[in-house]
Amino acid sequence: MLSLRYKLALYYLAVLSIVMLVCGVAIYGYISRSLVRTIDESLDHQVLKLEQIANLSTYDLPSEEPDTLPLNSPESDAIPIALHLMQVINQRGEIKTDSYANPNDEIAADLNALQQLQAGQTRHDTVVAPSGETLRLATRRARGHDNADFYVRVGYSLAALQQARKRLLLIFGIAIPLALLLSGFGGLVLANQALQPVDSITKAAEQIGAGDLTERVPVPAQPRKMDEIGRLAATFNTMIARLQAAFERQKQFTSDASHELRTPLAVMRGELEIALRRPRAPEEYQRTLGSNLEEIIRLSRLVEDLLMLARADAGRVELQCEPLDLAALCGNTVEYITPLAEQREQTLSYQAPPQPITIHADQQRLKQLLLNLLDNAIKYTEPHGKITLGLTVEQQHATLTVADTGRGIPAEDLPHVFDRFFRRSAKTSDRSAPGSGLGLSIVKWIVEAHGGTIVVESQVGAGTVFTIRLPLA
Ligand code: ADP
Repeated sequence: MLSLRYKLALYYLAVLSIVMLVCGVAIYGYISRSLVRTIDESLDHQVLKLEQIANLSTYDLPSEEPDTLPLNSPESDAIPIALHLMQVINQRGEIKTDSYANPNDEIAADLNALQQLQAGQTRHDTVVAPSGETLRLATRRARGHDNADFYVRVGYSLAALQQARKRLLLIFGIAIPLALLLSGFGGLVLANQALQPVDSITKAAEQIGAGDLTERVPVPAQPRKMDEIGRLAATFNTMIARLQAAFERQKQFTSDASHELRTPLAVMRGELEIALRRPRAPEEYQRTLGSNLEEIIRLSRLVEDLLMLARADAGRVELQCEPLDLAALCGNTVEYITPLAEQREQTLSYQAPPQPITIHADQQRLKQLLLNLLDNAIKYTEPHGKITLGLTVEQQHATLTVADTGRGIPAEDLPHVFDRFFRRSAKTSDRSAPGSGLGLSIVKWIVEAHGGTIVVESQVGAGTVFTIRLPLA
């Protein structure tokens, strides 16, 4: 298989050869034709002169004997070419007067051909004389004073024209192959240069295939000067960067997940080992089992969340969407979670809108979304704080707000709260709030799967507001 650079150079060469050949033939044809035309024009002029002279001489020299005309006489010196032949032929096709540059140049008069001419008409022929000389002839049917037609003929050697043609062919024969050779080489160099970046992309791709995602393809420094290949390189780099980021995230996710699973398992194992060291009172076993059960519940929740996110990543979570009244769903959820808020002596308020608000959504997922947000609000708000769930409709959208008067989220954390395993409490000494850091990631996924958006605003010490917009059914 020919490489692309050779193919490009070959195509280029083929097209150029055709163009040069066509141009060469056209130039050659045009030059020879215009040379012959120039000769013909001169011959026309000469043949007229000869007609005049012959007409004069029929009066002055009525002799029957063939006479010799002065070839290239001073009367005809207005014509720049030197004639090779002059003939005056009578009606019967007899040469009455003639003159030749070379005695062997005599051309016989063919009466049949001559008679085809109309009076006053001139025709041109190319003939080979007995001497081997190629001659261009102009033959004219002239009308004599006695009203008897006769013929005059002049001839010019085409030797010089043939020479010129030969030279032209020679020049073309050398110049065209030379030009093709040079441009073929130039085409190869150009194709080579143009395809150089493709080679580096291929090399980089091979490196990346070998597992090195840090490799990048060289890209022209100025984006404005980027050609197709430059854009390909840039696109390739962006793709690899995204691949690398996804790969890093995946690694981070796996390591975070194992870490989250390891801690509770270590706690449970420790408690059980201590409990088993010697026989204990039933209450002690009960306490250990109770504490283990708590950890197991937490672990199952975590595993469920992880599974849900993994499925979401793989695009395998099917939403069971149906028309549902968001106002009623909010009412139910608030009712369900109120005991939790009451435990912390917080007020949880929800002002239900007067009419149902119908959206097309998966009820289970939306309930999970509300629970996660309300649970967070309760968790991160001090006792006696206030939590408000709001629901309004505006421009084809239902807007849900979950506001609390809790501790707030520091500005530097705001961009990260939706990241997986992001937990403020884990970074500070506050480990009181149980949670895996997956809650908000799941919330965000649910909102986006329903075609909605979520934003968070917060002020440290004053409270946090999550605002969700979902399209109406
Ligand atoms: P977690 O399981 O830790 O609650 P989330 O994904 O639900 O995980 O939340 C991530 C982090 O965002 C929390 O650790 C907390 O620091 C912060 N956060 C979430 N909701 C609130 C809120 N209502 N008020 C203050 N901080 C919040």
